[in-house]
Amino acid sequence: MARLHEYQGKAILASHGIAIPRGKAIDSPALAPALCADLGGQAVMKMQAWTTGRAALGGVLFTAPDRAEADARALLGRSVGGFPITHVLVEEKLDIKAEVFLSIAIDDRARSPVLLLAAGGGTGIEDRAARVARIPCDPRTGPDAAALRAWVDAAPVPPASRPALADAIARAFDTARAVEARSLEINPLVVTASGAVVAADCRITIDDYAVARHPELGIEIARELDHPPTALERLAYEVEQRDHRGTFFFAQMNTAPADGSRGLIGFHGAGGGGSMMSMDAITAQGFTIANFCDTSGNPSPAKVYRAARIILQQPGLVGYFGSGSGVANQEQFWSAYGLAKAFWELDLDIPAVIRLGGNTEERAVEILQGACRAADLRAPVEAYTKNDTPAMIAERFATLVAQCRASWKPREPRRPAFVGAPGSHHSPIKGGTLWIDPAAWRDHAPAIIARASGLLADRDGAPAPTLPPQEFAAKDSEMIACEVECRRDGIPGLFVALDLPG
Ligand code: GDP
Ligand code: MN
Repeated sequence: MARLHEYQGKAILASHGIAIPRGKAIDSPALAPALCADLGGQAVMKMQAWTTGRAALGGVLFTAPDRAEADARALLGRSVGGFPITHVLVEEKLDIKAEVFLSIAIDDRARSPVLLLAAGGGTGIEDRAARVARIPCDPRTGPDAAALRAWVDAAPVPPASRPALADAIARAFDTARAVEARSLEINPLVVTASGAVVAADCRITIDDYAVARHPELGIEIARELDHPPTALERLAYEVEQRDHRGTFFFAQMNTAPADGSRGLIGFHGAGGGGSMMSMDAITAQGFTIANFCDTSGNPSPAKVYRAARIILQQPGLVGYFGSGSGVANQEQFWSAYGLAKAFWELDLDIPAVIRLGGNTEERAVEILQGACRAADLRAPVEAYTKNDTPAMIAERFATLVAQCRASWKPREPRRPAFVGAPGSHHSPIKGGTLWIDPAAWRDHAPAIIARASGLLADRDGAPAPTLPPQEFAAKDSEMIACEVECRRDGIPGLFVALDLPG
C-alpha cells in the first residue's frame, strides 16, 4: 500500500471539489513567517508524517508569524519512528464548530467499500466504536443514499450545513474511487463557524497495483512502507526497475540503534520466510536492524552487488548479516560473486556473516570466503550453509562484532588504477563497463581467459570478446564472476565498473 502525505491527499480532495484549508507544505523554516502572514497571521502548522495522533505527539501547532520560523524549524528537526520530517504543512486556522470522522475503506469480507461516519471526529475515535455508523456502499453508485441521508439529518451540526456535509461525503467517495484508494480518511471533516464544510486532515492509501495507473499521484515507490520513501529506498527502487533478474526489495527500518542495543546492523535476506526467521534470530541477539533487504528469485550478481552497496550506504553499522531461506533454488554462487565484489570495493571493515544456504551452497561459501580472504579485508567475512541455523550464525555474528568493535562509515568504492585510464581496454556491459589492463593482459591473458567462461579471447595481444557487442553486454554476470575469480587467485587486470543510480 502506497501512502500519501496529508498535503498530497488534500490536493486530491480539492481537485474533486472538497474544500480544504488555504495553505502550503514547506521544507524550509525560512518560508514559514511570510506564509503564516499570508494566511491571516493565525495558522496551523502540522508535521507531515505517516502516523495518526500527530496532535498528541506535539506535531500539530498553532503558530503566528513571529514564531512560525522557530516552530517550523522544531518540527522539521524531528523524526517519527526514526525517519526525519521533511515537510510541514502551514494552513489557515479554521474556526471549528463541529468535527466529523469519515473513513472509506475496502471491506475484504463484504468485498465492497464501506463508509464509516462518526460525529465528534478527532483522536480517540477507536474507543468510540459504538458510535460509528457503518454505511454500505456500492462500488458503482456510492454510499447507500437512504442510510447516508438519515445519518446526515441526525448529525449534530447546524442544519444549514447539512447539504454541504452530504455533498462533501459523496465527493469523498468519488475521490476514493477515482484514485483507487485502498482507504481514504478525513478526520476531522469540520463544519466551520461560517457553516462551511472543510477537510482539516486527510490520509489516503493507494492499492500498490493501482499506482501505475495513476501517475498524477506522483507516488515513487508502490509498496508497503511505514514511512515516506528515503533517498536510499528511492535509489534501491530504481535499481530494481532497471534489472528485472530476480527480485530486490529494500526498506529502511532504523537509523539509530535502540536503547541498550548491541548496535545497528545491515540485513540482507534471500527469500521471505527464511529472512523473517533470520531477522528474529539477529534481533534476539540484541541487535537493531537498520534495513530489510531481500534479493531472491535468481538475482543477478550485479543486483546483489548493488543491494550490498545500498545497505552499506547506511552509517554506523556494526556488522553485515546475510541470511535467507536456507533452501534457495537459485544458484547461490551468483550472490556470492556480487557480495564479494561489493565487500572488496568498499574495503569492508565490519564483520560480515552470510548464510548462503541452498543450491550450490558449498561453491558459494568457497567463493565468498576465498575472495574476501584474498582481499585481505580488515574484518572477518564468514559464509555458512543451510545446516548452520540462523540462531547459530546470529550468535557467531555477535561474537565477531564484539571482537571487532568497528562502526561503518560509507565510502567511495575503490577502483583499480587501470579503470578509466587511457590505453585500457573497455567494452560496454549491462549497467556498466568492463575494463582490462593491457599490461596485465600481456602477462596473464591465458589465466584471465580461463576464468572468462569462453567470452574473452586474445586477438593480436589484445583482449577481444567472443560475442557480438550486444550479446557480450548481456554477460555481466559472467564477467563479474571472472573478476572475482581472478582476484581470488591473485590475477590482476580485469574489472567490471557497475554504475549505481544517484
Ligand atoms: P492528527 O492528530 O495527526 O490526526 O492531526 P489533525 O490534522 O487531525 O489535527 C488534530 C486536531 O487538531 C484536529 O482533530 C482538530 O481538533 C485540531 N485542529 C486541526 N486543525 C485545526 C484548525 O484549523 N483549527 C482548530 N481550532 N483546530 C484544528
Ligand atoms: Mn486527524
